[in-house]
Parts: sequence; structure tokens; C-alpha cells
Amino acid sequence: MKNIKIFDTTLRDGEQSPGASLNIAEKIQIALALEKMGVDIIEAGFAIASQDDFKAINKIAGKIKKSTVCSLARAKKEDIEAAYQAIKPARKKRIHTFLATSDVHLKYKLKMTKTQALRQIEKMVKLAKDKVDDVEFSPEDGFRTEPKFLFKAVEVAILAGATTVNIPDTVGYATPREFGELIADICKNVPNIKNVVISAHCHNDLGMATANSLAAVKNGAGQIECTVNGLGERAGNAALEEVVMALKTRKDYFKSVTNIKTKEIATVSKLVSNLTSISVQPNKAIVGANAFAHEAGIHQHGVLSKKETYEIMEAEDIGLKSNELVLGKHSGKHGLAYRLKNLGITLDKKQMKEVFERFKELADRKKKIYDEDLLALISDQLKTEEQKYSLELLQVVCGNKTKPMAMVGLKDSKGKNEEISVIANGPIDAVYRAIDRITKNKAELLEFSIKAITSGKDAQAEVFTKIRKNKRIYSGYGASNDIILASAKSYLNALNNSL
Ligand SMILES: [Zn+2]
Repeated sequence: MKNIKIFDTTLRDGEQSPGASLNIAEKIQIALALEKMGVDIIEAGFAIASQDDFKAINKIAGKIKKSTVCSLARAKKEDIEAAYQAIKPARKKRIHTFLATSDVHLKYKLKMTKTQALRQIEKMVKLAKDKVDDVEFSPEDGFRTEPKFLFKAVEVAILAGATTVNIPDTVGYATPREFGELIADICKNVPNIKNVVISAHCHNDLGMATANSLAAVKNGAGQIECTVNGLGERAGNAALEEVVMALKTRKDYFKSVTNIKTKEIATVSKLVSNLTSISVQPNKAIVGANAFAHEAGIHQHGVLSKKETYEIMEAEDIGLKSNELVLGKHSGKHGLAYRLKNLGITLDKKQMKEVFERFKELADRKKKIYDEDLLALISDQLKTEEQKYSLELLQVVCGNKTKPMAMVGLKDSKGKNEEISVIANGPIDAVYRAIDRITKNKAELLEFSIKAITSGKDAQAEVFTKIRKNKRIYSGYGASNDIILASAKSYLNALNNSL
């Protein structure tokens, strides 16, 4: 069995999904959850891109013990220096540097000749190697690069010290057979390839990211770059849960294993969905709500008689349990801390205090608190960090004999309070208009969806919103057992993200 390294780029490529924006506290929780799940390399960001990116990578590097922490860097001196400074506190560090090698990128983006590109690769990989032992090089748009030049670029990077060479299908153009053959050709035509790990980085524009990544493994790749829930620019990246479960379920065919503890997959998927405010489609492979629904559906008879009739995986494999009661009104701080630890959540003292208060409030209103409730509560709480406006007051009147009216009070980061009442067409309309007026905001609400987190009439609701402001898209998330309150928080979160 070959061990395939899982390189997670949820915090870098995944965060480039339209609307996804994570604050530092949220990125830290995701990194800790990825580490607990057994991810080999965490690409924590792109250090030079912004001060926030740098800070997040640096904080994550200080907290992660087992996984390698990686920063992306263009093949430029200042990028590599920033990447190195950001990952410095990590026990295991990697610099991932890239330079485009396809004709179209060289000519129009970089305005470089091939000879210049090779020289730049050599110089910058060497520079990264002076700083860390573990260096990854990516020829960006590798799949559309002229093969002979790709082999040369890879050879030069390895000679300069790269220990992993990553072949990206940056625009999601490849098909599985072609991508597999390209990896096989690299193995054949690059003389020093034996000494390094070949990696695949596939995008999902044509829905083939997972298939292409697996074809790469079949042809000699030892690392897959992927994201939780398949997040990423445009149609996203290869989904971590899909490549991992495919390798596990079809071990007979791929003859490969990963270090991923698959029982963590469901929790990490939900956490990432909440924190990025991007919900998972119900029919999504592995982590969609319907992926294991046949357990209660029309195939039940077959499944009950003999599991293998319709089941190739078990819900337990990814950590789905039948709604098991976890906590209630009388649970104390220790009980809560224990459950959170099981979920891979680590909070500091101040965060724990706030979360415990909110847990008590929730337990007063809701009898049974499930893991899903805790994940929603934590996500909602983390979103209040570093926000410009916080919700201080919400009061709503509505019904069939009255005009919907909302009274909203917001506090800004300078401590200034403002309250306003608005009459509108519906209660949420009234709340959102009130928020707009206080924040002097002009955003268009593109999407609004509300979901019960668990079953039961007293269930908490989670609300996902998407807004457009100054031609950019921002997402928001809010959870509460009051649906209007959850709606208000979600919209305010999206708005705060835009500020
Ligand atoms: Zn990418």
C-alpha cells in the first residue's frame, strides 16, 4: 500500500471561493480541526497577499503540532521571505512557490521568455531551500504547458532543491486519462523525479477534479491537493472527502491509503460550511445531507436485508451518528469542554466563557443539545469576533392583523449605539432595512436560506445569506432558535465581512 499525502488548501484556495471570508479566529479553528483529522500538510494562506493572511498563517504555525504548515509564495524574493516569516513558528514548515509555465501565461501574464522562467524557478526554489528543507514547486497552468518545457521546469526545480513538485490543472481543463498520462510521462521523462513527491492540484470546472486527482495517484502521484467540501475559486478544487473516501473504499483498485481519520469528515465539513457561510448541496458526494439518506429511504428494505445491496460505505465511516443526545440543561462546563474537544474545537478562556453562557441560554430553550447545535453555536460565536457592528437589540412585531415592524439596535466597534424602528413588508424585510439604515449600507441581498439544524419543533435555525456590495459578493451565517434573530445575525455578518 502506498501512502498518499493529503495537502489541504481550504484556507488558501478554498478561501478564494466567491463570498467566503474567514477571520483569524475561524481560520485557527479550521486548522486545528484539519490537524485532528490527520491532514499531512495545511496550506494556511498566501503570506504576502495581506497582513491578515500573514497573521493568520503565523498564528496557525504557532498552534499546529503534527501537520506541516505551508504558505504559498509567487516565485519572488519578497513573497518567499514573507512566507518564511509567517510559517517560522511551525514545527514542520513548507514553502510552496509557483511560477506559470504555459505559453499563454508566460506571454500575457508574466511577459517572460522560457529561458527567463527557468532561471527564475532555479533562483527562487534555491532561495526557499535556504530557508526550509521542505520546498514545493508548482508550474502554474501545468496541464496546458508544452510537455517538454514542463519536464524541464520540473527538473530544474528538483535540481534547485524542491522536494515536492505539484502539477496543477489550474483552469480545470484536463480529463482523467490525459491527466494520468501526463503524470506517467513526468515519471518517465524527468530524470531526477524519483527523489521527490509528485502532487496533483485539480480544479472542478468540468466536474472532473476528483477523477483527475485519482488518475494522478494511479500513475505515480504521492500527494493530492484538495479542500473540504470542494471549496475554491469558480467551481472549486478536488474535494478532500471525495478523494479520501474513494481511496479508502476502492483500496483494492488504488492500492493506496491516507492518514485521514475519516470519522472526522462529517464534523469538519459542517464546521467549514458554517464558518465560510457556504452551505453544502444536499446531493454532494460523501457530505451532502442525502449522501447516506437511503438508510431511511426507498432502499431501506434492500439495505436491511443485506447492507451491500446499496451501500458501499457506512455513515459511521465519516462520523455520522444517529442524533445522539449529548448535552442538556444540567450539563456543566466540563461536559461542554469535553464535547467541544471531541469535535476538534479548542477555545481560549475568554471564548470558552462566552460560549458557556450561550450554551446555558440555548439549553434553557432547547431540551436536547446535539453536536450539530454546538457547531452552530461555536460558528455563530466566532463570527462575532473582529466585527464592526454587533447586534444589541432586536424586537419584532408581525402577524396577520398588523404591519410588520422591527426595532433594531446596533453597537459599532467604537462603542456607539444606535436604535431605529422600521415598518416594512415582512419581519425580515423590516429587520434588514433597519440594519441598512443604521450602517448606511447599500447592499443587494442575493440569497437567503434558512434550515433547521436538527429535527424537532424547538430546533435551532441556521441562516445563510449572500449579499452583493460594490460588485463583490459576501456571505453571512447566523444561528439561533429564534429564526428572525438568526436571520438578523446572518445578514449583519455578511455586511460586517464587507466592511
Ligand atoms: Zn488552485
